[in-house]
Amino acid sequence: MKAAQITKPGGDFELVEREIPEPPPGWVRVKVEACGVCHSDSVVKEGLFPGIQYPRVPGHEVIGVVDKVGSGVAQWKVGQRVGIGWHGGNCGYCDNCRRGNFFACQVNLLTTGISFDGGYAEYMVAPAIALARVPEDLSPVPIAPLMCAGVTTFNALRNSGARAGDLVAVLGIGGLGHLGAQFAAKMGFKTVAIARGKDKEALARKLGAVDYIDSQQQNPAEELTKLGGAQVVIATVTNADAMTAVLGGLAPNGVLMVIGAPTSPLSVDPISLLLAQRSVKGWYSGTSIDSQDTLKFSARTGVESMNEVFPFERVAEAYDRMMSGKARFRVVLKMSE
Ligand SMILES: [Zn+2]
Ligand SMILES: [Zn+2]
Repeated sequence: MKAAQITKPGGDFELVEREIPEPPPGWVRVKVEACGVCHSDSVVKEGLFPGIQYPRVPGHEVIGVVDKVGSGVAQWKVGQRVGIGWHGGNCGYCDNCRRGNFFACQVNLLTTGISFDGGYAEYMVAPAIALARVPEDLSPVPIAPLMCAGVTTFNALRNSGARAGDLVAVLGIGGLGHLGAQFAAKMGFKTVAIARGKDKEALARKLGAVDYIDSQQQNPAEELTKLGGAQVVIATVTNADAMTAVLGGLAPNGVLMVIGAPTSPLSVDPISLLLAQRSVKGWYSGTSIDSQDTLKFSARTGVESMNEVFPFERVAEAYDRMMSGKARFRVVLKMSE
C-alpha cells in the first residue's frame, strides 16, 4: 500500500510503499477513502509531543470501510463504513476511565495518527473501540473533517450548558467555526458569529448566524452585551487576545468554551469572572460514540464541512495549504479508488 510518513521531527512527508498492516486482536483494518488534514497533524510533523515513535503516518479524520477484523472483535463486520477520529482508545480500567473520563486515561490513552499510524495511507489499523459508524448515505470526502473539527465543535456545544434559544456566540469562522456556527444554529441556539472583517458576514449568516460582529470594527464584548449577553462563547480562534476580548460579553453564569489552541497564555480579568460567575472551560474532542452522534446529527440536519480536496499523492501540498490558514475551510485527502 501507499502511505505518507514522517521519519523525524521537522521532516518532510515521504510517500512510501508499505506492507498492508494486519489487525492485532481487538483491532480492525480499514481501507481509507478520505482523510482530513488537521492542524494537530503538525504534532507529528514537528515532533510537538514527547514519545512519538517515527516513522509515523499522521491523520485522524478518517473515513473508510472495514476491510479485515482482528480476533475478539464482536461489533464490526467487513464492508461496514466507519470513521476514526482523534481519540484512538483508552484502557477502560484506570480510575479516570471507570469514571467515564476516557480522555484522561492514565494508562493507555491512544491518539490516532500519533500513538499509532493514521489515515494518510491506503489502509490503517485501529482499536475497535475507536470506530464510529457512518450513516450509509453520507459520502466520505465531505464528512471526513467531522471526525475531528466536527465532533469537537458539536460536543463542546452540546456539553456547554446552553439551552434551546440561548444566545451562543461562535468566535472565529474558520475550519472549526464554520462547523460551530452550523451546529449551534441547528441545535436551536440564537447563534452569533464573531470574526475579523466584513468578508465572512454573508457566509456566517448563510451558515445560520442571526447576528454578526466584526471584531475589527466593533468591540465584541459590548456588542454581545447589547444583544443580552452570550450564555456560551465557543472560542475556535488561535489568538488568545481575541478570546480575552469577548469575556465581558458573557451573560451571568456564561461560559467561554475554549477549543482553539493559541500558543500564548490567555489573560482573564478575575473581577469580571466573579461578579457575573463567568467561567472559562476547555473541551476535549470526543470519543468514537461522540463522533458517531456528530455524523448522525449532520446527516439529519445537513451540516457539512466546506473542503478543499486534494488527491492523496499531493499530501505535502495539502498540508502546506492547511498550515497557511488560507484554506476555505478544511483540507481533505481523497484516496484513489
Ligand atoms: Zn484534529
Ligand atoms: Zn484508562
